[in-house]
Amino acid sequence: MSEAKPNPFESALKQLDIAAERLKLDPGIHGILRQPKRIVTISVPVRMDNGQTKTFTGFRVQYNDARGPYKGGIRYHPNVTLDEVKALSAWMTWKCSVADIPFGGAKGGIICDPKKMSQGELERMTRRYTTGIADIIGPDRDVPAPDVYTNAQVMAWILDTYSQLKGVMVPGVVTGKPISLGGSLGRDTATGRGAAFCTREAAKVKGTTLKGATFAVQGFGNAGANYALILEEMGAKLIAASDSKGGVLNRRGLDAKKVLQHKEKSGLVVGYSGAEEVTNEELLETECEILCPAALENAITKDIARKVKAKIVTEAANGPTTPEADKVLDQNKVFLIPDILANSGGVIVSYLEWVQNLDRLSWSEEEVNSKLERKITTAFKGVHGQSAESAVSMRTAALMVGVGRVAEAIRTLGLWP
Ligand code: NAD
Repeated sequence: MSEAKPNPFESALKQLDIAAERLKLDPGIHGILRQPKRIVTISVPVRMDNGQTKTFTGFRVQYNDARGPYKGGIRYHPNVTLDEVKALSAWMTWKCSVADIPFGGAKGGIICDPKKMSQGELERMTRRYTTGIADIIGPDRDVPAPDVYTNAQVMAWILDTYSQLKGVMVPGVVTGKPISLGGSLGRDTATGRGAAFCTREAAKVKGTTLKGATFAVQGFGNAGANYALILEEMGAKLIAASDSKGGVLNRRGLDAKKVLQHKEKSGLVVGYSGAEEVTNEELLETECEILCPAALENAITKDIARKVKAKIVTEAANGPTTPEADKVLDQNKVFLIPDILANSGGVIVSYLEWVQNLDRLSWSEEEVNSKLERKITTAFKGVHGQSAESAVSMRTAALMVGVGRVAEAIRTLGLWP
């Protein structure tokens, strides 16, 4: 029987508890960190193209803002649950802290199937959801961004709705915007690029190189496809790629750009010529040096973890490894770059976008990429140093750094009244 998929918020709390124990965290602060500060559930009625009204449910969870305004993406997916959004908001909190950027953590989501909705329906749903959260977001309060099945266009609708409500243009209310509206160059590739920088650092630590190293990517979307393109540029060889409908494999190598072109044209990676078809599970168990889960939570279960052959796992997705699978990978000496470090490139460049908006600046792509490289390499070294010092896994080390800084901020702020 296959392993039951754990509740993501329970997984997030288990991780927090491990870090709290290692850090000997004050129980009062630990208690604060076990709960989101605010949970908002919004009813989102939408006039559909057939004239009928359909009511969706949306969430915004603001986890903690001790280190700065809340920050986190918005997900559109049929399987969105409140517990998933809570988990993602907690991970955002630790992630911004690991990256040492002045943000807290939040996340949003709407239970919907965007693949079955027209552009008009998506726009009306986004705008109605934005009115529901307009009072709790803003450049100094909470700054949303794209996540699974949301993109720059969705951010443009949020920006416009918010600005219309406030009567002034407020570009800093969201990040991941189109460039024409104050988006940052380099934001679209930032998550994949950051994950690639982390993989390069991991290879250095292991005394190997990316030249000719084989890798597989689960989830050929924004994070996964950009990771593949950039790791390929660094000399590694993509041999397998997948999306929600399955994957393709060629041991001699795939061409990431051509796989992406095929996906853009047909909507799928399957059907790419010169490759055999594989399931998502087979992809995760493929013989390769680097594995990048870049789709959704709980992809690597305990059973799959036992069959993972990769030496490095780069978690571009949030929460792709279950806590049980984590233990197996650790026992098998897999070098795991945890999500809150590996995919922090997205929020790092979101931060750079927000800074440019607030200061009315516009940096070149090279400038953005080099700031990202500096920030994420420093974060990697900090986490790796913690891992060596405390003799813990990279996951626990990242949580110790992330949770530790948030706890310190809470302690220093004090409790009012
Ligand atoms: P996306 O919508 O651009 O791409 C998601 C991809 O995953 C698509 O190709 C989809 O077909 C595929 N997918 C969906 N379900 C799947 C399944 N069951 N098996 C295999 N593939 C599946 O989304 P994204 O923005 O790339 O996000 C992917 C992951 O990266 C998420 O966990 C997200 O939270 C995380 N992430 C994204 C960013 C960002 O900046 N986009 C930043 C940090 C973390």
